[in-house]
Amino acid sequence: MTVFEKDKTYVAGTYNRFPVAIVSGKGSLLLGEDGREYIDLTSGIGVTAFGIADEKWQAAVIEQIGKVQHTSNLFYTTPCSDLAEMLCLKTGMKKVFFSNSGAEANECAIKAARKYAADKYGADRYTIATMQNSFHGRTLTTLAATGQDHYHELYQPLTPGFASVTPNAGTDELDALHKSSPLAAVMIECIQGEGGVLPLDPAFAREVADWCAENDVLLIVDEVQTGNGRTGKLYAYMKYGLKPDIVSTAKGLAGGLPLGATLLGEKVENVFGFGDHGSTFGGNPVCCAAALSILSRIDDELLAGVRRKGAFLRSAFEGAKGIESVSGMGLLLGLKTTKPASEVLAACRDRGVLCLSAKDKVRLAPALNIPDELLAKAAQIIKAVCAE
Ligand SMILES: *Cc1c(COP(=O)(O)O)cnc(C)c1O
Repeated sequence: MTVFEKDKTYVAGTYNRFPVAIVSGKGSLLLGEDGREYIDLTSGIGVTAFGIADEKWQAAVIEQIGKVQHTSNLFYTTPCSDLAEMLCLKTGMKKVFFSNSGAEANECAIKAARKYAADKYGADRYTIATMQNSFHGRTLTTLAATGQDHYHELYQPLTPGFASVTPNAGTDELDALHKSSPLAAVMIECIQGEGGVLPLDPAFAREVADWCAENDVLLIVDEVQTGNGRTGKLYAYMKYGLKPDIVSTAKGLAGGLPLGATLLGEKVENVFGFGDHGSTFGGNPVCCAAALSILSRIDDELLAGVRRKGAFLRSAFEGAKGIESVSGMGLLLGLKTTKPASEVLAACRDRGVLCLSAKDKVRLAPALNIPDELLAKAAQIIKAVCAE
């Protein structure tokens, strides 16, 4: 059997994969098993922050694997405590809970918010408002948080206690909701990634943040996709000038190993006591060593590079034939193309460029350190495909 046949036979059919099998790569180049080379503008959906097989990242991972690969959370490990310290120093948040994915990072955020509200205001203050068209993960609870009905249909009943409001439309809906079902938190993405690379209006984001502060409703920012340098700031909320109570992140954090982190601010730093939450793999020393290698290199210079590369792409695409609009920030961009996104993706693939889609958009999320020459070459090909 070919890899395609074997996968179709034995792997659960949840993924409509591209017809490409990847065997290896280096930086922003991927090698297919048919011997073809591709410029990678997907970075594993914003995960391989410094590209494939980055040398410093590899060295950090191999060094830690040679020491101890797992201990359980019954023991202390240096990579875990060092990474928590680094995240807190870089954000001003107070404590970190580590898990293994974005959905779990959000689960922890939701648990923290529920516990804070219940401890302080009683058991009926548990509802969490999210935004319509949001995406927060695939567990039953994070699906409930996700403001897109089509994700809900197959899995009723979902976890109760979620309601979605209209983004960029003031705080009246939050007021009404808070009266009928007292809110524990409001959860936002600064840019709806899966929702089609749609940035939240900064004025609305600040209005929501102020409303939350006035009502002692926690502000949770889901930085799973937008975090760790992706938008040209360490976290997108920093660009928006927000002061979240809880931040969740994952995807790019460990550069390609599974790691989720929930950052807890002042209000919730002590919300969890012994046994209140946990994860067998959470804070795994190899994943934390990988994340230390990534996070320590997301400095001002790297972030300036992300902004410059993003601006280059934007100017390449704005006004180009067959491209109706460009959305997003830094190296998380969405192109509304005249042709269906799936057609653009297929034609780009044929010419050696791998892109993502998000709803009706072509989504680009290359490695943060993609070389300028590769980016220019890929942009040329995308433009040519869109113009045809
Ligand atoms: C990808 C994503 C998630 C889910 O992350 P997983 O690691 O797949 O569980 C949650 N929120 C946002 C904004 C995401 O982009």
